[in-house]
Amino acid sequence: MSLVKNGKRNTTRRGFVKEVAAGAAAAAMAGALRASLAPPDEGLIAAPGPMIQAPGPGELKYRKYFTSELRPEELEIGYGAMKNMFLVFCDGDIIEGCHYFSAMLMGESATKTAGHGPHKHRDPEVLVALGTDPDHPNELGAEFFVCMGPEMEKHVVNKPALIYVPANFIHCPFTVTKVTRPFIFIQAEYATKATETALRDMVPPEMRNKYIFIDADGSSDKGKPRFGSKVPPPSK
Ligand SMILES: [Zn+2]
Repeated sequence: MSLVKNGKRNTTRRGFVKEVAAGAAAAAMAGALRASLAPPDEGLIAAPGPMIQAPGPGELKYRKYFTSELRPEELEIGYGAMKNMFLVFCDGDIIEGCHYFSAMLMGESATKTAGHGPHKHRDPEVLVALGTDPDHPNELGAEFFVCMGPEMEKHVVNKPALIYVPANFIHCPFTVTKVTRPFIFIQAEYATKATETALRDMVPPEMRNKYIFIDADGSSDKGKPRFGSKVPPPSK
């Protein structure tokens, strides 16, 4: 790439463009910040919204994209029926095209079980742990461990974290060891339905009924009987 001198300040045109872009970005950022910090009667919230369509009578066209607007028979499919387990849950059976996603609040009771046994999924998985103390957002208020790979390399997590699990990668046990404040645990798979292959042989026989083990082939749960509250979640 050629760098053309603009002569005046002995800077390059590319450098000048970068300076202008950086200045514009900073100005936009400052504007957005001011708007978000301004009281509601001066900020964007109170601004007229000609682009926003007020809800009309009858059913909203896009309510199908909100789990909060789905009817029980639309939401309570597969693990979507486990309302006591998940704060939110969705997959492709519930919202067409949506990938498997769940979020739960884990309290002290999570330390009372061995946790989830070794397994793998057909698709990549992302796990996210977040604390719930607004005064200390960088604290998890809990501790758990996750083993990774066929070697079962142990990783202790005690601060907010995102964990990426590649497709077909052996992971877990996942065991919560300490909770001083309930924390949010999110679990997502890069697929509309969760798949899981339990690897029971990776733990001693006497431990196999202590861990949660799940086998899921990724088929639709539509029309199948609802899961009971005792059925564990499909993965971690
Ligand atoms: Zn998993």
